[in-house]
Amino acid sequence: MGSTSQVPRFALILALSVVSVLPDIDVLAFQFDIPYSDPFGHRGFTHSIAFAALIAPLSASVFARYVKLFDRDWFVLVVLFFLASLSHGMLDAFTDAGHGIAFFWPLDNTRYFFPWRPLETSPIGITSFFIGNVLHILKNEFLWVWVPVGSLFTAIHLIRKRLLQA
Ligand SMILES: [Zn+2]
Repeated sequence: MGSTSQVPRFALILALSVVSVLPDIDVLAFQFDIPYSDPFGHRGFTHSIAFAALIAPLSASVFARYVKLFDRDWFVLVVLFFLASLSHGMLDAFTDAGHGIAFFWPLDNTRYFFPWRPLETSPIGITSFFIGNVLHILKNEFLWVWVPVGSLFTAIHLIRKRLLQA
């Protein structure tokens, strides 16, 4: 019988991390002269709900050795990967520069931001990221991203532990 508890924790966390940064693969669009505002430009389709819905079952299936496809636990993984992928666009929508997020691609190519945008946009590209004021950006991300995300994961972990004991 498959269970998410049989999935190696480290592999799962690693896979979730990869999926959560995957949407930014679209920076490659700049190499091909695809404009930022294009649906296939940066913060376009890879940041959408549809993309998350597509990538989630694919990613969950990587763990087919541990959880049976379409089992309850497989769906748990699908939800986790969906949230990991979508959380990327959500966080981008809280940033203070650049273009908004094409959440509703392919139905609607409008780029959306949240009304409240406390996050600083990281400069595009690895080089400029490192040349830029790395510490400042990391501090900002730590405060607005990792503290809430960490709290959320701790809460989920505690709730799960309680449920398992019940
Ligand atoms: Zn992004």
